[in-house]
Amino acid sequence: MEYDQNNIFARILRKEIPARSVYEDEFAFGFHDLSPLAPIHILIIPKGPYLSIADFSAQATAEEITGFWRAVSHVAKQQGITRDGFRIVSNSGPNAGQEVPHFHVHLLGGTSLGPILE
Ligand code: IMP
Repeated sequence: MEYDQNNIFARILRKEIPARSVYEDEFAFGFHDLSPLAPIHILIIPKGPYLSIADFSAQATAEEITGFWRAVSHVAKQQGITRDGFRIVSNSGPNAGQEVPHFHVHLLGGTSLGPILE
């Protein structure tokens, strides 16, 4: 599948659609999920055009990969959820219900999250 330059997160990165930003650097952008599933529910996306975690891992430079995961870690600290704990989820493809075809991680915290699958 080709990367769609007009997917909603690409449009958020281009500031064509507003987002409630919490973090931005040259590698990553973090913003509140529109439909939060936990008291803290942040999406973190790389700035490059990657469909999924597999594409990101295979195609991004080492600098982009390091920068992205540092940003995820930074946002977890910034949100104050490292002491009590948090969860990172990345849906990839239809079986996981990936809705937006731009690689993203969900950072979830602020409560006891329960088992990963219900
Ligand atoms: P996915 O199922 O892993 O692809 O998750 C996509 C997430 O993006 C869902 O949790 C949506 O609530 C969220 N989402 C969709 N559009 C927007 C938006 O415009 N701003 C913030 N979050 C969004």
